[in-house]
Amino acid sequence: MRVLKNIASQFYLYLLWLLVSVLVWGWVFTRITDTAPEKKVTVFVNAYAVEARALSVELEKSMPEGIKMIRVRPFSYAMFEESSILGADIFIIKGSEIESYRDSLAGDGIKIYDARTGHGAARQYIRYTIDGEAPEDYYLFYGVESVHTGEKDEAAFAVAQTLLNMMKEADGDMQDFILGMDVSSLLSEEASGVKYYDFDGREQDVLKTLAENGLTHIRVRVWNDPYDEQGNGYGGGNCDIETAAALGRRAAKYGLRLIVDFHYSDFWADPGKQMEPKAWRGMDIGEKAEALYRYTKDCLEKLLDAPSDISIVQIGNETNGSLCGETDWNSVCRLFAAGAKAVREVLPDASVALHFTNPEKSGTYAEYARILAEHGTDYDIFASSYYPFWHGTLENLSTVLSDVSETYGKKVMVMETSYAYTAEDSDFFGNTVSEGASLARPYPYSVQGQADCIRDVIRAVAAIPGGVGVVYWEGAWIGVGGASRKENSALWEKYGSGWAASFASEYDPQDAGKYYGGNAVDNQALFDPQGRPLESLRVFSEARNG
Ligand code: CA
Repeated sequence: MRVLKNIASQFYLYLLWLLVSVLVWGWVFTRITDTAPEKKVTVFVNAYAVEARALSVELEKSMPEGIKMIRVRPFSYAMFEESSILGADIFIIKGSEIESYRDSLAGDGIKIYDARTGHGAARQYIRYTIDGEAPEDYYLFYGVESVHTGEKDEAAFAVAQTLLNMMKEADGDMQDFILGMDVSSLLSEEASGVKYYDFDGREQDVLKTLAENGLTHIRVRVWNDPYDEQGNGYGGGNCDIETAAALGRRAAKYGLRLIVDFHYSDFWADPGKQMEPKAWRGMDIGEKAEALYRYTKDCLEKLLDAPSDISIVQIGNETNGSLCGETDWNSVCRLFAAGAKAVREVLPDASVALHFTNPEKSGTYAEYARILAEHGTDYDIFASSYYPFWHGTLENLSTVLSDVSETYGKKVMVMETSYAYTAEDSDFFGNTVSEGASLARPYPYSVQGQADCIRDVIRAVAAIPGGVGVVYWEGAWIGVGGASRKENSALWEKYGSGWAASFASEYDPQDAGKYYGGNAVDNQALFDPQGRPLESLRVFSEARNG
């Protein structure tokens, strides 16, 4: 009995121990489940360091509940941290930059979304992966109205959702994105008898048609004195400050803002020629800087009086190391500074743009931006021409502009671009782009090809941190409608509606003097030879609305 009693008491002790254990472990278990450990979510962004930091700060403010730490890393760094890539919860990859990551990521078994294959509306998308699960189940696409979640990690999903909302807000910036059209030759076109129509076939001010189709800005070049001593215009629109003021005033009626493109020359300025105005010949650099400052100030005051709504002022046109007859960077930067000073004094709210070209030449933009920084040059926007026939790939353009934007904190934009909708000429003066020309041809010469090109350029610039706009070059410059070269030539000479009149020979004997004539870009306009808008004109509002 005693033995049995001992066993019984030990049994009760055992039961008591068991009960206490269950209670204790149960309590511990509920404590554990009640207070989940702080969740860490790692976000990789293929942005640059500045953008990643900004994103991190924004995320801190709107952290989803229960998430302690979010690590935002520039994706470029992540490429060197393979384990981190696989362990990350969320990837943010811009569609425009996918190609450069495709090969490296394929090796990790991560499928890359291709924005070019039908999901073309996606400017950006979010993809997130969770350790040990198939990454393709976890995407957040942005721009195709698709949120693919699948089985999800709640914490990662919450962060992804927050990011999506933030990016939707950021998309509001697209409403501020500059969509411009250079219309410098418009007045000379109209004087030559050219008429423009709306999509319903009614004759209408082409500037109104542009405003109705999503454009926000016009751009006008300004030459100091594009006339000979008898007052005959050099052509190319005879674009002096009075022309710019008239266009600026008319544009303002339709809410279009003005981009002023000072060439600081009496005729075309580009990398091949940066001739000083006749009136400034013989000046030393100090005198020239002073003249440029006064001229800029006077012109801007005239434009304000017009009145026009000036948004951006360009100091020089395609100034790859030369401007106004000066060919060393010290002098060029001195002239930039003189122009910028005038803009700041007259238009404190306007942006100062410097405009370069040949983004395809390796290292040049980085070099220009470095030189500008070394000279302490005052500017807001590093602008580029981008003609796909000559200027390399869009990916390269994105890279070189992003580099400038990131390194120097500057805004960037495409100040000139265009593409051919046909290989045909319509004004008896040969075009720069034609069927036989030896040029890059990334899109067909069709209205659709032209629209695709514009859409892709807009998308690429919009995806660049600091990308603020795209301007189409001379989209309303069409043939003047004569039945022969002789008829057209009379109009070009009289009204300046060709690229150069014979009167420009005295100023520019080597180029205009030999090759003066009509329109070499009529097949790159956004209006047909009769002045009716092409379907490709609709691409601007479509791009803005995603
Ligand atoms: Ca032509």
